Amino acid sequence: MNELIRTLTQTWGPTSYEEGIRGVITRELDSLHMDCRVDALGNLIYCIPASGKPKLLVSAHMDQIGIIITHVDKDGFLRFGAVGGLDPYKVLGHRFVFANGTLGVAAVESKEHKTLEHLTLDKLFLDIGAVSKDDALLHVAVGDFAVYAGDCVQVGNRVTSAALDDRIGCYVLIEALKAAVGKELNYETYAMFSVQEEIGIKGAKVGAWGVQPDLAIALDVTAWGDTPESYVLDIGLGKGPAIKVKDAGMVATPAIRDLLIEAAKTHGIPFQLEVLQGGTTDAAAIQTIANGVPTGVISIPDRYVHSASEMVDIGDVEDCIKLLVAVLLK
Ligand SMILES: [Zn+2]
Repeated sequence: MNELIRTLTQTWGPTSYEEGIRGVITRELDSLHMDCRVDALGNLIYCIPASGKPKLLVSAHMDQIGIIITHVDKDGFLRFGAVGGLDPYKVLGHRFVFANGTLGVAAVESKEHKTLEHLTLDKLFLDIGAVSKDDALLHVAVGDFAVYAGDCVQVGNRVTSAALDDRIGCYVLIEALKAAVGKELNYETYAMFSVQEEIGIKGAKVGAWGVQPDLAIALDVTAWGDTPESYVLDIGLGKGPAIKVKDAGMVATPAIRDLLIEAAKTHGIPFQLEVLQGGTTDAAAIQTIANGVPTGVISIPDRYVHSASEMVDIGDVEDCIKLLVAVLLK
């Protein structure tokens, strides 16, 4: 098991509480001695200067989806809402953990048991083992955030964990920086570990304004079409990085899409083309800031996105690193 991937996925960091994961990343990259700043929203932005060269921004988001407590009832059960995209049927039966370590189980009202297709989050509650409202309030409060609890494990040549969206993108960016620092680069390179992607791409928009890049690439996960009776989607695990053509929020700038395709072909890196009907990434926000930024996306195929057990292929992850490094290095 790759220990950095484990640490990245196991660090608590729902949207707008990214300081823990920011700490993991800064410690990991400390020895590279890159210029680094944190903006007012919390985006962590590194720069590898290369004066006179175009400014490339590469972004991966640090935040993860979660839940927020909306109500504590008289018996100590907690009601909750979503922070980011959360399907009730993916939540049911899973454990959640708060910043202070308090754990709870997401259960459903008994009378809802047979109507899973109509399940809504308001029919679920969190059981933290409290015996009363006062007991519960010793551990949590309305407005507290929690994220999926659970280990990061390897199964075959794959890794399964919550929060691979988008800690695996952070991992790709970290490893690409390690490979690129000290070498001759094609671009003045800005590496942004962004905040608040899951609630509407807040961080990347602000961070990109701060950098004002000439071109940009986002690193994020994408969906899959290779499990039983899955949606029709030409993306599978183990087939290489997915180079985005379009998702629900953007058309990738054709010149950047083609730059990524050419880099993959030149270096013999397998790739697939991504046309995703739902969801988007930091790239959608970055593309439309300032005077506009030609922007593309390297996507990591990720089964069961936004569940407690997402799954990526280790070979795909390694090929995403290779592809990004191929773009960065002269
Ligand atoms: Zn994501």
